[in-house]
Amino acid sequence: MPKAENSLSNTIGNIYRKLSHAAMRAGRQPDEVTLLAVTKKVNTQIIDEAINCGLRDLGENYVQEASNKISTLTQLCPFTNTRWHLIGHLQKNKVRSAVKLFSVIHTVDSYELALLIDKEAKKIQKVQKALIQVKLSKEDTKHGIDESELLNLIKDTAGFENLQFEGLMTIPEYLPESQLMRPVYGKLRFLRDTLHELGYQHFKELSMGMSDDFEIAIEEGATIVRVGSAIFGQRIN
Ligand SMILES: *Cc1c(COP(=O)(O)O)cnc(C)c1O
Repeated sequence: MPKAENSLSNTIGNIYRKLSHAAMRAGRQPDEVTLLAVTKKVNTQIIDEAINCGLRDLGENYVQEASNKISTLTQLCPFTNTRWHLIGHLQKNKVRSAVKLFSVIHTVDSYELALLIDKEAKKIQKVQKALIQVKLSKEDTKHGIDESELLNLIKDTAGFENLQFEGLMTIPEYLPESQLMRPVYGKLRFLRDTLHELGYQHFKELSMGMSDDFEIAIEEGATIVRVGSAIFGQRIN
């Protein structure tokens, strides 16, 4: 329906405008920031529309859900080079499929997981791009590694030929005021900058910021913002 398509492209246009303004406020170039459209629980018809509006980076939380959508969408629009990102926790028994499906895995948080990804990527002669998920909030239940273990993970995996870390990712605990996220995002940037000083220059990406706070995340240095409901509306859970 043309009307729905229009409103989706308007919405996406508005988000790009906010993204650009936030980047400029921070003295950054808008094209330093990738808008990653989070498509969990969004049906493939709508995702197809979003791709037609120009979105190329798409994020999913579950390997199985992504797998179904990717095969449907590959039939719908076979020649668009979309990049799928895994932003949800990766279970060890899903690593093989994940390596086949995703351009970037954002949620590596243990040596064992890194080892498995490297092994499965080797089998299909792929260098899997990935980010390390860092836990910056106090909650015990959250995935992600402790900041004190970050350097060890990087050193222990440095020899992996089929796993290439490109940066850091965090999912902060929900706080009622988006401004309260600022120090959390500043912290992730600080960790990345510290890695640069130690010689780990390939840690460029900062995957942080969601619908409610992506502008703040960009002001704090985000290079990938993960935006779902602001593009597609509230998810029905
Ligand atoms: C769902 C999800 C998002 C998007 O959340 P919105 O608030 O809908 O933008 C971003 N990151 C992760 C890890 C998610 O699970």
